[in-house]
Order: sequence, then structure tokens, then C-alpha cells
Amino acid sequence: MPWLALPFGDKRKASLSRTFKVHGIPSLIAIGPTGRTVTTEARNLVMIHGADAYPFTEEHIKEIEAQYEEMAKGWPEKMKHALHEEHELVLTKRRVYGCNGCEKQGHLWSFYCEECDFDLHPKCALEEDKGTKDDEMEKASPGEGWKCDGEVCYKA
Ligand SMILES: [Zn+2]
Ligand SMILES: [Zn+2]
Repeated sequence: MPWLALPFGDKRKASLSRTFKVHGIPSLIAIGPTGRTVTTEARNLVMIHGADAYPFTEEHIKEIEAQYEEMAKGWPEKMKHALHEEHELVLTKRRVYGCNGCEKQGHLWSFYCEECDFDLHPKCALEEDKGTKDDEMEKASPGEGWKCDGEVCYKA
């Protein structure tokens, strides 16, 4: 590990646990440059914000939360999506989720159906049309070895 670590079973663990009131693992405590505890809730902050949570100060968290609100401006609060026709998807702040569209992980904003536990990245939910267009363009492109001169296509 690239950070300082105590060997497993080291006796100093008990005093660290007492100092930082560690009740369960995994636990992450952020300590500032002066040695002052920034937060004992760093684990939750990482769960919500990922690496953006660094350096964990209250001001920084407020700032990124404001950025997230800003990000969601212009997105609909609710939408219907072809991948989930049964219910409306509601713009929801989630922690970590798996996108049911692209199957990659997402965090924070999701177009979400609580009833079915169905998530879509805002990107996946809102850019559906663009994807379709790209597919069509691919299909429309001329086959290899052909040249198109205006309306006429001929073998090159
Ligand atoms: Zn996705
Ligand atoms: Zn649903």
C-alpha cells in the first residue's frame, strides 16, 4: 500500500480505535495537515462522492453538492424511458448503483424506479436518441470498396 500501515494485530490499533471512536469497519477518518480530525465520516463521503470527496472538509462537500445541483439543472424530474416502460423514472440522488442501461457503475444522480430498483445514468437516460443516430449512420455508410459521388455509387 502506498500509505503508512500498521501490521495486522499491532497493539496500537486499540488506541487508534479509541481516539477516533471507530465502531465498525471499514472506517475512514480524514485528518488535516495540522493533525486535526477533518471528519470521522469519510467513508460515507467516499460512498456518496467517490474520489471527489477529497479533502473531506465541510466547505468542500458543500461546494461539490452545489455542483451536483447545478449539474441536474435542465434535467427532467421524471421521465419515461424505452428500457423501462412500466413506470416513470424519477431523478434521484443515489449512492452507488449499477446502471440498467450500460451496466456500468454510477453514483449520485440516477433516473430511478424505486419499485423495481431500476437505475439509469442520466447520460444513458437522456442520450438515447444520439445512440440511435450513430447506429443509423453506421448502417448508411457505404460498403467497403464503394465510392459515392453524389447520387451515384460505383465500385472503386
Ligand atoms: Zn449507464
Ligand atoms: Zn419500475
